[in-house]
Amino acid sequence: MSKFCPCGSLQAYTDCCGPYLAGQKPAPTPEALMRSRYTAFKRGKMDYIAKTQLDTAEAVGGKNASIHWLKLEILHTTLAPGGKAGVVEFKAYYQYRGEKHVLHEISQFRLEGLCWLYVDGEIMYQCCPGH
Ligand SMILES: [Zn+2]
Repeated sequence: MSKFCPCGSLQAYTDCCGPYLAGQKPAPTPEALMRSRYTAFKRGKMDYIAKTQLDTAEAVGGKNASIHWLKLEILHTTLAPGGKAGVVEFKAYYQYRGEKHVLHEISQFRLEGLCWLYVDGEIMYQCCPGH
C-alpha cells in the first residue's frame, strides 16, 4: 500500500481521508468529502458512498471489481455564499479492461448539519467502459 492517501493529496491516509471513512469526524469541506468518496470507491467501501450522499435511496451499486481507480484530480471548488453548498469539478481516472478512461464531473454538495453530502453531479465527459 502506498504511504500516501489514495485520493492523491500527498498526505498520509490517517491524516487525510482515513478519519472520515472510519466515521471519526465528518469531512470539513466539499473537496475533502469528494476526496474521501473517491478513496471509498477505490477501496470498495460502498457503505461510505451511500452514507455521504443526499439521496440514500439512489442505488450506488456494488464495487465493480474490474474498475481500477488510478487518480483523482480536483480542478475547481466553489463554496456558495453562506457556506452551506459547494461545487467540486474533478476528473477521475480509471482503468477498465486494460484501457484508461476519465470521468469529468461537476458535483454539487450540500451541508446538512455538520456533514457535507453529495447531491448530484453533471457529467461533462466520460469515456465509457465498452466504447
Ligand atoms: Zn485523502
